[in-house]
Amino acid sequence: MKKLDSCSDDFSSTTLVELAEVLRQQSSAQSSLEHMVSKLLSTALLGVAVVQRDSFLFANSVLQHMLDSAEGTLKQTLNYSSLRLQPYALPACAGKTEKVAHSIEDVHYECRWQTPKGKLLDVEVYSVVVPWGEDQASIVLVNDISVRKQYEASARLAGLVYESTSEAIVVTDEDGIVVDANPAFSAITGYAIDEVLGQRLNILASGKQSPQFYQKMWAELAESGQWQGDIWNRRKNGEEYAERLHISTSWNPDGTVYRRIGVFSDITSHKKREALVWRQANYDHLTNLPNRQRFQGRLHEAMQKSIQEGSPFALIFLDLDMFKDVNDTLGHNVGDELLKEVGRRLQTCVRDTDAVARLGGDEFTVIVAGVEDLSVVERICQQILGTLAKPYKLGEEVAMISASLGVTMYPADANDAGELLKNADMAMYAAKECGRNQYCFFLPAMREAVQARVQFSRDLHIALAENQFRLYYQPIIDVQTGKVCKAEALIRWLHPELGLVPPSEFIPFAEDSGLIVEIGNWVFNAAVDQAVAWQSFGKDFQISVNVSPAQFYANGVNPKDWLQRIESAGLDMSSIVIEITERLLLDTNANVTKILRVFRDAGIAIALDDFGTGFSSLTYLKRYPINFIKIDQSFVRNIEPGSEDQALCDAMIVMAHKLGMEVIAEGVSAEVQLSLLQDAGCDYLQGFLFCPPVPAEQFQQWMQNWRYQ
Ligand code: C2E
Ligand code: MG
Ligand code: MG
Repeated sequence: MKKLDSCSDDFSSTTLVELAEVLRQQSSAQSSLEHMVSKLLSTALLGVAVVQRDSFLFANSVLQHMLDSAEGTLKQTLNYSSLRLQPYALPACAGKTEKVAHSIEDVHYECRWQTPKGKLLDVEVYSVVVPWGEDQASIVLVNDISVRKQYEASARLAGLVYESTSEAIVVTDEDGIVVDANPAFSAITGYAIDEVLGQRLNILASGKQSPQFYQKMWAELAESGQWQGDIWNRRKNGEEYAERLHISTSWNPDGTVYRRIGVFSDITSHKKREALVWRQANYDHLTNLPNRQRFQGRLHEAMQKSIQEGSPFALIFLDLDMFKDVNDTLGHNVGDELLKEVGRRLQTCVRDTDAVARLGGDEFTVIVAGVEDLSVVERICQQILGTLAKPYKLGEEVAMISASLGVTMYPADANDAGELLKNADMAMYAAKECGRNQYCFFLPAMREAVQARVQFSRDLHIALAENQFRLYYQPIIDVQTGKVCKAEALIRWLHPELGLVPPSEFIPFAEDSGLIVEIGNWVFNAAVDQAVAWQSFGKDFQISVNVSPAQFYANGVNPKDWLQRIESAGLDMSSIVIEITERLLLDTNANVTKILRVFRDAGIAIALDDFGTGFSSLTYLKRYPINFIKIDQSFVRNIEPGSEDQALCDAMIVMAHKLGMEVIAEGVSAEVQLSLLQDAGCDYLQGFLFCPPVPAEQFQQWMQNWRYQ
């Protein structure tokens, strides 16, 4: 096509028709151009504007839409430079905005705009300066890049998280080859990123998980693309660590695996803490043996195994004999050492498959698995008794101890864990009753005996409520004067069916059940009433009351109440003697000492009963406020001229006198005993030779007839 401006040169040679044709063609080209420009301006992709002197001369619909402007209003309402968001725009934008607004030069930049309605949008601006009439203008192309910017921001954020998270992130390809890992991965595993790229992650394997574990994990990954769990791996330095791992999968469009992404955190300290807590809950801190809780689990496991394999097992319950005495005499630290050693020795007596546990205190259990023959258990029991009986060297001290063992068989004796333990406990008690340092097998009769004892304890409650107790009195005679100067109050239970029950048969139950406190108070009150009734026996006449250690331990002795009771009965404090046993003094219990001192200070005498049978120690005789010692009847019974018991009685009497105490001999039942004790300088005598314990009325009659030859 010929250009119009060139046609003038050829005018002479151009016909009108040709000119008309040229004009037509030029006009058509013009309209094509206009059409093209109009199409370009109405593009849906870009905002297009003509800006001159900071005003919009033109804006296409895309730009109007971007700026929330109604058709045609942009020109009047908005300046180009006012779009720039302040103060967030990059400083670089400022100059660029000016250049566009005032058509200074061509620019290309990114900026953030704020529309008059407050909408924020990220834009990419491309502007060229063109001549416009007499002046210049900027043709501005605006691309809304808000979405791209958002993607960029979140990608930046993801990158930041990836780099700075404390969770390790490792990416592998579909074959498990590492393609990327973050710094936390290096921090946890000790491998630099370069060292793992191109490697398989089995370089971390610790061997702690079985092949089946990994098979299951891969099966789960193949099915769901996800897996999570805790695994033990190994760091580069060889140290094992625990990680909590989550694996997810990124898929290709065709459904094949693109990447596997593993995210894990180091939970070693958490696992260690967990293990420690578990150990504390299941193991005894002193002996490191399983504790009661773990024992229960082991017992259930043994029961299940026994059912599956059809082989019986034995449960041995072991209690040390007189362990309290070791604690009391050698101290708790030595006691602890002894328990540790007992635990160690017990383990040497059993096979690895057997389970030793410490239930608490001095109680241990042994589960002997797979016992086809009772003789196996018997052999183990004998071995335990023999091993434990050997001397214990504990620091400076050497201690000896024995144990009583109760054995029960599963499933022959019971099929319930609780029952089994009870059986073994009962059998152990039977071993104690038979004289300790031995073992007893459980017998059903033991259960019946225990049931009878439970019934007996119930009856004791009834006895209190229905006033079935009686106090008997036994005279105590002054050797010098022959006068009956004291009486010991001894309790009896007038049982509706069993008749008169002696204290030895029910006091231990009362002590175990705590009922001793009420019974003790009853005895004390009854004795005080009797002392009131017997004031005619003389001002010096005393009634001795036996007080069990269990009453003290249960805070059942209230000295204030007791003193008040004596006072309000109008008695002298000296009318009552309190008989305690050596065992009570073994306990270095400050409260016991305090109570004894209150009694003693008030003028109540204290007698030490059954002297010579316990830990007859001079130290506590000196330490405690004791007025009388009562030589136990076991010494008096066999006393004969020149006998060892005579020597012992003589020694006890001399010693007591040296410490300023008086001596009462119990169980005097023969003339020879009387004369030997008299010769030894014993102060008081008590025994069947004079009178057995009798009811109060009978005691009174006996007193009337009493003549000392
Ligand atoms: P105990 O305090 O040593 O009492 C002396 C025991 O020796 C009494 O037994 C008495 O009957 C017995 N006895 C006295 N003389 C002779 C004798 O010549 N030959 C023999 N074979 N025995 C003699 P009993 O009354 O059966 O009391 C036994 C134990 O029961 C008492 O020993 C005491 O420890 C306890 N007991 C008795 N009454 C009470 C009480 O009211 N409270 C408490 N806590 N314990 C009591
Ligand atoms: Mg007594
Ligand atoms: Mg006694």
